[in-house]
Amino acid sequence: MQDCTYLIVGSSHAGLTALDAIRMIDPEAPLIMATREDHLPYSPTVLPYVVSGRSIPKKVALRDEDYFKRQNVAFLRNAELKSLDVAASTARFEGGANVRYEKLLLATGAQPSIPPIPGLKDAFFHVLRTMDDALNLKSAMGSAKSALVLGAGLIGTHAAENMAEAGVKVTIVEAKGQVLPGYFDKDASALIETAFRKHGIALEFGRSVKEIKQGRAVLEDGAELPFDLLLIATGVRPQLSFLDGTGVKTANGIMVDEMQRTSAANVWAAGDCAEARMFQAQGTGVAGILPIAVEQGRIAGQAMVGDHGVKAFPGSVLLNTYSFFGQQAISVGIGEVADGETCLRIDEAAGTYLKIVLKDGKLMGVASVNNPIDPGILWQLILRRTDLSEVKDRFLADPKAVGRMLMSRLWR
Ligand SMILES: Cc1cc2nc3c(=O)[nH]c(=O)nc-3n(C[C@H](O)[C@H](O)[C@H](O)COP(=O)(O)OP(=O)(O)OC[C@H]3O[C@@H](n4cnc5c(N)ncnc54)[C@H](O)[C@@H]3O)c2cc1C
Repeated sequence: MQDCTYLIVGSSHAGLTALDAIRMIDPEAPLIMATREDHLPYSPTVLPYVVSGRSIPKKVALRDEDYFKRQNVAFLRNAELKSLDVAASTARFEGGANVRYEKLLLATGAQPSIPPIPGLKDAFFHVLRTMDDALNLKSAMGSAKSALVLGAGLIGTHAAENMAEAGVKVTIVEAKGQVLPGYFDKDASALIETAFRKHGIALEFGRSVKEIKQGRAVLEDGAELPFDLLLIATGVRPQLSFLDGTGVKTANGIMVDEMQRTSAANVWAAGDCAEARMFQAQGTGVAGILPIAVEQGRIAGQAMVGDHGVKAFPGSVLLNTYSFFGQQAISVGIGEVADGETCLRIDEAAGTYLKIVLKDGKLMGVASVNNPIDPGILWQLILRRTDLSEVKDRFLADPKAVGRMLMSRLWR
């Protein structure tokens, strides 16, 4: 049995930010960071570039071995958390190793969710969430001429672009009628789709796969799509079997309060495994995005170490900066907005789109394709419920300049 003050499970964005927050206040107490992977920490967002060969694993490490030595951290690789005894504050890892903690952070992220398509479990398919997934996909691409991607969310579209750039003929099948549903409406998505089609990617919308057979997918209408390589990108969800029998409250993720505390004493959760309140929409949700993982990781770390500067999690505002074929789309808060006053500017010829939603003088959400806007500032304007009534027309005309002006005036 190993003993430690802090145990962090998961070494990605949420876990690393928590570690930094703890070490700011408590540089010495025994701290173990455990990951089930064999790699140094990396961001899952770089995986499509590893697939295309534009990047390589050793260039994308978020921290090196030396960092863990300097921080006085025991970094355990190939250590998969299997079960917890929250009453005894003990974690059991694959292979039987036990760690007794005073404070535990669960930062185990999410895993691909595999749809129950007949034939799929007997077929050979890829997913993209870990470095090993990316390396497997890259090596399969060497002999593949065609790829079928199920799902046009962030992972499916990023992977499709990178596979197409590496010379593979790619088709995406998406049950909904557009790419990136949840982040962009149909008009904004149409501009993104134009770029995909221009680069030779076939998009099959409003269609779903009824069955997977050897080397081909059968669609609901009987059409068949052959493939050399199949990538399943139909969403992610946290894998929480290590909580079985603990009584820790879960819904879609591990339920946390505004300090990232779970329902168990001395156990916190942050990032893609945690379910927290939303900022604008009613209720709770798993945000599933990098900036929220970082923010929650910081709050959890500060709360664990007793940092008096810790501020409660205000709720998730969904933010996405999406780059595709040298262009940029941004969505801030938009998936949560139910109503409001909408200002819309679309220039199809120029390939630009801007939607700004306001309610009672406050910013609710912005979606943009190829406009010079600053998503971080817009995020803050929403979170701070900044009143834009006096500058509304100027803001609608130039959200970047007016957002910056407000930032410099209000946030000293
Ligand atoms: C291809 C791709 C593109 C993306 N693009 C974007 C984007 O454009 N914008 C954006 O905001 N977000 C994007 N995301 C999502 C973003 O990467 C996540 O929101 C973020 O990584 C969440 O961080 P996390 O620390 O909560 O979890 P993760 O990054 O998922 O890390 C969790 C870690 O815990 C480990 N782990 C899991 N279970 C166990 C266990 N039982 N024992 C030990 N270790 C365990 C995992 O192996 C993993 O290393 C993308 C993700 C992918 C895969």
